[in-house]
Amino acid sequence: MKNKLEKAEGDVVRASASFAAAAQEGSVYALKQEDFKVGGVSAAEMVAVYESRMVKGTSPGRFIYDEIMVSSAEGRCPLCGHRDVSTLDHHLPKKLFPALAVTPLNLIPACSECNKTKLHGVAGSPGKQTLHPYFENVESDPWLVAEVIEGEPVVIVFKVDSPDHWDSVLCERVRHHFQAFGLPALYMSQAVQELNNISHYLKQLFDRGGPDQVSVYLEDQAVSRRIAHVNSWQTAMYTALAQNRWFCENVGLLSR
Ligand SMILES: [Zn+2]
Repeated sequence: MKNKLEKAEGDVVRASASFAAAAQEGSVYALKQEDFKVGGVSAAEMVAVYESRMVKGTSPGRFIYDEIMVSSAEGRCPLCGHRDVSTLDHHLPKKLFPALAVTPLNLIPACSECNKTKLHGVAGSPGKQTLHPYFENVESDPWLVAEVIEGEPVVIVFKVDSPDHWDSVLCERVRHHFQAFGLPALYMSQAVQELNNISHYLKQLFDRGGPDQVSVYLEDQAVSRRIAHVNSWQTAMYTALAQNRWFCENVGLLSR
């Protein structure tokens, strides 16, 4: 096996370079599986190399695995932007693209939910590619917005609102990523919990200073969260709540 792998090194290095070039120009969807086989080494053997020589705690490649695991800011999964990193996700599946099984650029720190949720197939068109956090930086522009659904109980829904200067493929990719990882439901349930946590305080503010005081507080919270993370669900939620006059006048409807 050692001999076979040493002979195949060129295939793995070439695969890594062509993956990097495609990811850079957003054309990973066009890569062909047949170009990512490893000469003389089966897909199952490459998967075994990853699992026994990179993942296993005492294996020689484990330090690379660990470096990628800790590379995400605040230990947050870059795919959902919410849960903790607990594993590595192959951007292109290792069984279908065995030459990329151990390629660091194909390994993304992720939470186990995102790792499981992601389809193990390959995107069929440019807009159906999920975002690769090493290559697509969408965090400098605000794109996540929340909407307050007026009623009892109050519900917050989340949507993608792309900036005007994004091209149509990037708009589609962000919307696709948002759906593919189940982020609307994740963010909505987090928002319900957050509303319950702050409702008692909002009611106190309302008793002291009416809807204006509620709005000022919510806007302060939005500003602070926006400075930390432009597109967190918290930023979107506090922004929407602060701007919603109906909500600020009706915090008494909150359940706690
Ligand atoms: Zn995640």
